[in-house]
Amino acid sequence: MKKMAATRRAFLQAAGAGLAGVVLQGANTAWGQPGPALRIDEPFHGAVLNRRQGEEVDGGLKIRVSGQAPAQDRVTVNGTAAQRAGTTFSAEFVLDREETQIAAASQGSGGRQEHCIRVLWDRHSQPRYRFSIDDNSFFLRDIAGKSYASLFDCFYLKGLRELHAKYGTRFVLNIYYTTEDGFELPQFPDRYKGEWRDNCDWLRLAFHAHANLPDRPYQNAAPSRLIADLDQVAEQIVRFAGAQTYSPPTVIHWGMVQPTALKPLYERGVRVLSGYFSRRDGTWDVNYLLDDTRSEYLSRHDALIDFESGIVFSRVDIVCNNTPVEQIVPTLEPLTKDPNHAEIMDLFTHEQYFWPFYAHHVPDHFARLDATIRWVTEHGYKPIFFHEGFLGGPV
Ligand SMILES: [Zn+2]
Repeated sequence: MKKMAATRRAFLQAAGAGLAGVVLQGANTAWGQPGPALRIDEPFHGAVLNRRQGEEVDGGLKIRVSGQAPAQDRVTVNGTAAQRAGTTFSAEFVLDREETQIAAASQGSGGRQEHCIRVLWDRHSQPRYRFSIDDNSFFLRDIAGKSYASLFDCFYLKGLRELHAKYGTRFVLNIYYTTEDGFELPQFPDRYKGEWRDNCDWLRLAFHAHANLPDRPYQNAAPSRLIADLDQVAEQIVRFAGAQTYSPPTVIHWGMVQPTALKPLYERGVRVLSGYFSRRDGTWDVNYLLDDTRSEYLSRHDALIDFESGIVFSRVDIVCNNTPVEQIVPTLEPLTKDPNHAEIMDLFTHEQYFWPFYAHHVPDHFARLDATIRWVTEHGYKPIFFHEGFLGGPV
């Protein structure tokens, strides 16, 4: 309990920085006040809510707002009286616009308190999936070295094109500037520009990092370093493939950047960043250094917006190179049963595992992608790009 209280205090302090909603407290409410202070627990500040997390009603999405307040206080939610049960309160609330501020206020012997949060309504939500592939560089080196007649003479792009032909899948390939063995993007010819253009409805290129090594290149880097590397790759993509094939970054290498990098990334067109939001040795990792509270939330939900930057974070649902064929359905199916995970499938893998020369080559990698994409297709998920519309859905 002590630990919880400390966490909650950090949460409320973070509120002052705009991270977790806003708490306004009356003068008499601080020390010695029995029971918890006022706070909204559900929905979560920054939640992205869709039809599965409420009830669709005329002109809106009806959700439940709930939280904690001193037991004797009168609580309102945006001016409407909430129901009380002990130290909890709850109220129905209808979201009727894209972004809504929800304010809970309590009034009692301890004075007046208020807690405000903001949430998004994914109004036109529909089941959808995106597929992004990280750590790309070998296929570019291969094409440049072999001077193929077509991009799709490279087995890797050929395999992706077959999946696109079967399922309509859209792929974003997150690329490096260099393979660090002499190949750099400026060596990639622009003579395939027509082919890139002809396939840009399903095949896009995005910045991922300057190179595969060092690990976690942007975890402690100045945002200016990240943006300079991004710009260098973006310039090359536009040169050799054309602006229509360029996608803003969707995953930064290792999923770690400094918090101060988020706004500059938004200014470069980033709208969604995917990560694992999982614990490693008890510490939240591959989480873009989001705070523990938000990382834990994202571990259980499809998406969360960071209002400070405007970037939506998405939790990766499957990593195909790590998931044997027989584990694919057991990985995906439970997600469809969970309203917080069912709407958006964030599908993901890494390029290097396709290549026989790679130490950890996965010979059935394409079969894994096929099984993954076939399953989401058969379950009604539509292929999208995250950087188009809102999380790939209509706006
Ligand atoms: Zn990476």
